[in-house]
Amino acid sequence: MGQYHYLKDVVTLALSEDKCVGCGICIEVCPQGVIAMNNGTAHLLNRDDCMECGACAGNCPTEAITVEAGVGCAAAVINSALGRTNDACCCIIEKKGASCC
Ligand code: SF4
Ligand code: SF4
Repeated sequence: MGQYHYLKDVVTLALSEDKCVGCGICIEVCPQGVIAMNNGTAHLLNRDDCMECGACAGNCPTEAITVEAGVGCAAAVINSALGRTNDACCCIIEKKGASCC
């Protein structure tokens, strides 16, 4: 089995730093380490690592984060794993010895 790689610039994740109050909850719940604190405000480190699980947006008290959860990568990977579909729209599986685009 190869390793998943996410496609570039397809994620719906967005952060409004003006609305952020710096509570840090999004950082605690993100399984991908996408968000970090920068001078008291949440900051996106690498949007392309986001799997659109929705945990950050669902737990943000000020609605500073938006993401279309359940329609992107996480849903595609879960559906694929359950045999519902064969395509995972936001990522590819790199086979051993193959080069990634
Ligand atoms: S949607 Fe999930 S993976 Fe993406 S930044 Fe939020 S918590 Fe992290
Ligand atoms: S959960 Fe919302 S308010 Fe709290 S640090 Fe993250 S973006 Fe800012």
